Amino acid sequence: MKTVVACRRWLFVLFLLVLSLPAQAQRQQAEGKLPRPKLVVGIVADQMRWDYLYRYSDRYGNGGFKRMLREGFSAENTNINYIPTVTAIGHATIYTGSVPSIHGIAGNNFINNSTGQVMYCAGDDQVQTVGSDSKAGQMSPRNLLTSTITDELKLATNFRSKVIGIAIKDRGSILPAGHAADAAYWFDAQSGGWISSTWYMQKLPAWVAQFNRENSVEKYLKDGWNTLYPLSTYRQSSPDRNEFEGKFAGTDAPVFPIDTAKLYKEGGAGIIRSTPFGNSYTLDMAKAAVKHERMGQRDVTDFLAVSLSSPDYIGHQFGPNAVEIEDMYLRLDRDMAAFFDYLDKEVGKGQYTVFLSADHGAAHNVTFMKDHKMAAGAWNSGATQKALNSHLQELFGEERLVVNLMNYQVTYNWKLIEEKKLDLQKIKQASIRFLETQEGIAYAVDMEAAQTSTVPAVLRERITNGYNRHRSGAVQIILQPAWYSSGSARPTGTTHSSWNPYDAHIPFVLMGWGIKPGKTSRPVNMTDIAPTLAALLKIQQPNGSIGAPVVEALK
Ligand code: ZN
Ligand code: ZN
Repeated sequence: MKTVVACRRWLFVLFLLVLSLPAQAQRQQAEGKLPRPKLVVGIVADQMRWDYLYRYSDRYGNGGFKRMLREGFSAENTNINYIPTVTAIGHATIYTGSVPSIHGIAGNNFINNSTGQVMYCAGDDQVQTVGSDSKAGQMSPRNLLTSTITDELKLATNFRSKVIGIAIKDRGSILPAGHAADAAYWFDAQSGGWISSTWYMQKLPAWVAQFNRENSVEKYLKDGWNTLYPLSTYRQSSPDRNEFEGKFAGTDAPVFPIDTAKLYKEGGAGIIRSTPFGNSYTLDMAKAAVKHERMGQRDVTDFLAVSLSSPDYIGHQFGPNAVEIEDMYLRLDRDMAAFFDYLDKEVGKGQYTVFLSADHGAAHNVTFMKDHKMAAGAWNSGATQKALNSHLQELFGEERLVVNLMNYQVTYNWKLIEEKKLDLQKIKQASIRFLETQEGIAYAVDMEAAQTSTVPAVLRERITNGYNRHRSGAVQIILQPAWYSSGSARPTGTTHSSWNPYDAHIPFVLMGWGIKPGKTSRPVNMTDIAPTLAALLKIQQPNGSIGAPVVEALK
């Protein structure tokens, strides 16, 4: 009898709870409160090709990538609408809805055409490191010329929203977090912990210092890296032992098991970047930020911008057809599931919006492609620069007219050209004619005349979008598909930078508050991501945005 009464009482409490939920929403509406998610979480997986959403999906669980695709909206045909497709530009573009021509982040490194100096995208010698003695903290978003979606959220809420960026790579944290962020944290290999700069703060918050004390890199690396499943079951990848992959320093071959504890002892904390544990480490830091900063647990929308850098480090070393990549994505899928569970618990299921994208993809390894009879090649940028310089010297009588071929762009010695009163048009024309005779080069395009150049329209647009007059080279080199720059004729691992689908086709999946489940295969640009978030949040698009919202994704 007693249990029946207790049971009834519980049922009644449950009944009241169920009643009060919609009542709460109604009350909010009656009060005229603008409905917004409690938290937006951006996840950029560095070098995550779109096909990785599906390539290993037989062994993905239900709570990670598959949950996003099941509960969320996927813009399946999202492409990067500029070149070069590299990390700094990708992160800047996702969060600004803009392109290098406007937002100014023209590469990871780019030239300052007025001084001739090479600049690092996030480099800033006016700020100091916070949390370490190293120079790795002299970073800020100073070079980013437009606002980010995170800046716009700050403006829209009179700076009440909290914005925090987290990534192993400084640029993966700083550019997404924007100019007005409360904090951006990135990894410092010297101290083996999370650091920031005086752009954001004078001292690390107590919880970050505590995280650094309690979560040593050594702890993440102590058990080594072996495959989750027996090696023979990794059927999406080349045999573990092959000549397409780069090995860790001090090891004989790029094969499992990988003794990460030994690598740590011999090489230091930086090694975590090139292991799947870099993802776990980053997501643990993200969870700590949610908890200690009470992100998504206040009366205003917060924004957590996370970037996962390890997929890029592992990708560069091993290439897309490696067991190491397959295993890393299986592990990342589990880490993501655990992260979503955490957010469900701390913020509430359906109370936050999360999106997943990538800053770029990656090519297949050149040697791997050739061994499978596919057209591909390694292009030697250093040798080309040398040959181009001697060719130009014969024609114009001056040495070293080309200072570099960074980002597949020809940068000239502007001072020399001006001093000697040389004809720039003639130099560009001679360069283009010479470059187009070189093996592996499909086109060389005068940046100032891209729109009248006889190349496919999609390339004209991407060249123009990627061209910043103050920070780019003067001639764009486009290699043949599956070719990339390497000093070696048979390079290991891979890279990215090109317009081709393997580099430019990226995931864009949204899930949670305000998102209608579904998908579209219509063309979407990377520059549409920030406008979609702006539409979701009912805030202004970033001030250099050229995109449009993916309205099909919004309720
Ligand atoms: Zn990247
Ligand atoms: Zn990369």
